[in-house]
Amino acid sequence: MTAFGETSCPLLTLAVAEDEHDFTLSDYEGAAARWCPGCGDHSVLTAVERLLVAEQLKPEQTVFVSGIGCSSRFPHYLKTYGFHGIHGRALPVATGVKLHRPDLTVFVVMGDGDCTSIGAGHWLHAVRYNVRMVALMLDNAIYGLTKNQTSPTTPQGLPTNTQPRGSYLPPLNPIAATLGITNASFVAQTAEWMPAHLYATLRAAYRHEGFAFVRVLQRCPVFTPSVYQIAVQKPERIELLVHEDGVMVPELEKSYKQRLVHDPRDLDRARELAEPGERIRLGVFYRDAGKPRYDLIRRVPSRTAAERIALLNGELDKHAV
Ligand code: SF4
Ligand code: MG
Repeated sequence: MTAFGETSCPLLTLAVAEDEHDFTLSDYEGAAARWCPGCGDHSVLTAVERLLVAEQLKPEQTVFVSGIGCSSRFPHYLKTYGFHGIHGRALPVATGVKLHRPDLTVFVVMGDGDCTSIGAGHWLHAVRYNVRMVALMLDNAIYGLTKNQTSPTTPQGLPTNTQPRGSYLPPLNPIAATLGITNASFVAQTAEWMPAHLYATLRAAYRHEGFAFVRVLQRCPVFTPSVYQIAVQKPERIELLVHEDGVMVPELEKSYKQRLVHDPRDLDRARELAEPGERIRLGVFYRDAGKPRYDLIRRVPSRTAAERIALLNGELDKHAV
């Protein structure tokens, strides 16, 4: 007996057999990544591929949506569906995909400029709408693709091509900002040079039933080599937020001794912890799977392809001259 019932059709039997095979890395690997050697984006891609294999996500049921920037080349490097969109617009595209195809698993990959500058309005509302997806913000503190321009997260005083005497303003704090948005339901921070923590955070985000925002601290050895250098070299400059409802990474306990038990249901404490201090804090700051989700409240009626085409033609005909 199969999902299609009793069958003696060899083609159907083959389709069922293919559907049941275990997915391996080669089922997800796309084009060879063309990021610079040493770029942190490579680590994020590796962690994402590991997650896809571990969770056995069907490539044809998985979508990666990106905007514009170095990290936004992500969909090209995976054999899932992908949408390499326009600057700052990854989140509305992903929201549309998820609303019309709730059966798909949706990931969004944005850079710091993409998400927190031109896409800032979409970021705010996507967090509030709380549509289920994983949104990764790869933060290298610079516009890399357009060659060294100050972004909202560039540290104050760091010289760039657009502000050669040093970035004028204090940087935007993406974790604090996200925690301030009404209806935020999952807010986490991790670092690409800590693969075990990165993977554990991605897995927690993927399993969250709502909009999961993950800021990934990402090295850009070409334009901002100094930005995370101290944290990379000195594990004592990192503080891990640990909790059974957040992420626990026992294999890091020997190297990363600064740990703080933080219950991710405590929003007030999360906001305190998001403020800059001596150490960079990594972990789940906040998580509440009980927040209202727009994708559950506003169900888009399911239509056949023919019905959708008829509807579209009807709308276009209204404007015919
Ligand atoms: Fe990575 Fe920086 Fe090169 Fe862009 S410019 S691919 S962020 S190392
Ligand atoms: Mg950037």
